[in-house]
Order: sequence, then structure tokens, then C-alpha cells
Amino acid sequence: MQKLPALIFLAGLLAAGCRTQSTLPSAALPTPAPALLARQNVDATIYQHMSAEAYRLYQQGYELAKVRLDANLARPHALPPAVIVDVDETVLDNSPYQVTNAAMGRSFSPDTWKAWTTKGIAKALPGAVEFLNYAASKGCDVFYITNREPDEKAATISNLHNEGFPMADSVHVVPMEGTSDKTARRAAVARTHYIALLAGDQLTDFDESLKNRSVDNGKPLVRAQRDTLERYFIMLPNPMYGVWLDAISGKPLADKPANKEAALRKYAY
Ligand SMILES: [Mg+2]
Repeated sequence: MQKLPALIFLAGLLAAGCRTQSTLPSAALPTPAPALLARQNVDATIYQHMSAEAYRLYQQGYELAKVRLDANLARPHALPPAVIVDVDETVLDNSPYQVTNAAMGRSFSPDTWKAWTTKGIAKALPGAVEFLNYAASKGCDVFYITNREPDEKAATISNLHNEGFPMADSVHVVPMEGTSDKTARRAAVARTHYIALLAGDQLTDFDESLKNRSVDNGKPLVRAQRDTLERYFIMLPNPMYGVWLDAISGKPLADKPANKEAALRKYAY
């Protein structure tokens, strides 16, 4: 009986020791930026991967694409018509890669990205295959202008082909050529074709000038080009990453989580 208080005291010490060992390191060390970024991206990734709302937005975008394409093909044009689409989050769905990142607490890296694209298993986004085959049936050449790297080209062609996209070949799939700016690649198509429609998940899939977010996050530039955007560009949803987010989160990975938090505070009322 006399030993009981001592045992309880000892048990208390051991428990305190266990708590100290199990909680102190994680509490004392800062969470790495990739893990913070992964956490910040969870809702966006769930929206893109799982929501019927995103699913419907893609359908809706490609329904409108058909209407716009018909109208633009009815306009006078001398050259054969073409449709230009981006690849990622425009015709192929990479949300499984983003889901994996979020679940593993990691952020984008070229190595994990290429491990994903090399598999060539991304699914077509809703409405994309149907629309592009419609465009092909109307005599359009379809160009896939993407900022994937040249060493991802073969797997991308195979992926697009397997999903049923038309003209998935080395001529029509145009990867990045040293710059993410797609202006020169679009101009090359324009030399031989009448570009009847473009579609993308970034405004820069239409015009590089729309990369500028220095005034009101770029919205005045969108207003200035509204007529041409309405006629020639289909904007598709991607809340997971993009020019809009880069403009806020900045370049150094370590600063991105704090920059995003600071942006939220800036706009809070
Ligand atoms: Mg894209």
C-alpha cells in the first residue's frame, strides 16, 4: 500500500515523458512549405476531382464551344479551319495527381508530375472528346498546344489517342519549346489555318498578355478583350493551380503558403 503513491508518481513521469517525446518535435519544428501548400489546396482539389459542379462546368464549356465553333465557321475565312486546345485541365484530367499530392502532403514537383504523365492514364474531361470529334467532322484540324515538356510528348499522344481524341499525333500535339508562352506556337498554326476557336483552363491559353495580373488581378485586361474572348475562347475551370495563383503565391516555394495567407488578409473586409 505504501508503494502505490510512488508507482502513481512514476507512471505520471513516464506519461509526461511520452507526451514530451511524441509532441515536442512536431510542435517545435515548422511544417514544411509543401505540406502547407498541400493542405491549402485540399478544397480546390476536391472540387475539381469529385464535384458534379466541376463536371457540369466542363460539359457546359464544351456545349458552348460547339455553338461558338458553328458561328465562327460561318464567318468568311480563306484558310482551312483549326481548333486549338490546351491539354492539362482542358482535355485531360490530372486531378488524380493533385489528389495524391494533397493526400501525401506534397506539392507539385517536376519528378512526380512526369511520373504521372508518363503513365498516360489521365481521363478525358467531360465533353472534350465529343466536341473535338465534332470539330474534326466539320473539317477542323485540332491542335493540342501544351506546356508539357518534349519528353512527355509520346506518352501524351498515347494518352489522348486512347481516350478517343482526334488527331493525337506528333504534328498536332505541340509541347513546350523553351518557353511557357504559347504565342509563337499559336502563330505557327495561324500561318496555315483560320483559328476558329481556342479552349483552355488559363487565360494565357488565349493570349499571353492576359498573364499580367498587376492591376486588379488582371480583370481589366479581361474586360478590354471581352468581345474576342466571347467569340473565340472557351474558359474552363481549374481551381487547383495556374497563372492566377502564381501571381499571388510568388516564386520561392518556401514563401508561397504565407503569401497566400497574406493575400487573404489583404482582401478580408
Ligand atoms: Mg492547362
